[in-house]
Amino acid sequence: MPTDANRIRLVLALRSAGITDAAVLGAIESVPRERFVPETFRDQAWEDIALPIGLGQTISQPRVVAMMTEALRVSKRHRVLEIGTGSGYQAAVLARLCRRLYTIERHPALLARAESILKELGFTNIVFRAGDGMQGWPELAPFDRIIVTAAPAEAPKALLDQLSPESGIMVIPMGKTADSQHLWRITRQGDRYDREQLAAVRFVPLLPGVADDSGEESRLPRL
Ligand code: SAH
Repeated sequence: MPTDANRIRLVLALRSAGITDAAVLGAIESVPRERFVPETFRDQAWEDIALPIGLGQTISQPRVVAMMTEALRVSKRHRVLEIGTGSGYQAAVLARLCRRLYTIERHPALLARAESILKELGFTNIVFRAGDGMQGWPELAPFDRIIVTAAPAEAPKALLDQLSPESGIMVIPMGKTADSQHLWRITRQGDRYDREQLAAVRFVPLLPGVADDSGEESRLPRL
């Protein structure tokens, strides 16, 4: 089982990696990451590493979750859209910091698992959807913040359109190949979009459409 020492060691590692936002560090410290990783990796849950979660997907490295969350400049007033629920870990960290989090995942089996864990942990401000996140969630747009946790070659137009024109911020990894990805922050002001390149990263690809994995819940590793 993870100890307080594991948690504190991770937070210190994130600090040395340049994460300074106390609210972000506090959220990371308070979310039980061991609940989102397969049983076999539980003793590594508080290491600063990405881990497999099944169906070829991964739970992101805590350092990357912290960096993206900090870059997003989230506040309690914000409605946030997340593309790529995966394990639900990034969703939990964000939900601690924003008003409401809307999260979309293309693998229904992963979404169902994340939803049940997040509900069990008592989160009441997260709304879940199985679908193609490339299309965003037009009925609920605009969003104050959008975070994409899988990498396209270019920012999907639907997501740019659904970003609030009043200082909306999107954080998104982009790159044509896994070796050439960078994290970007896109800030929208009216029709103007400013882009800043933040860091080199490595994410699974953002893929179109919904995956047909009905009945595959049993193939997911046990949490
Ligand atoms: N935020 C996650 C990281 C998951 S990895 C976490 O904290 O664990 C990225 C996830 O994006 C994968 O689960 C993958 O299935 C999903 N994904 C890829 N393309 C997608 C799309 N078009 N719409 C929704 N989810 C997508």
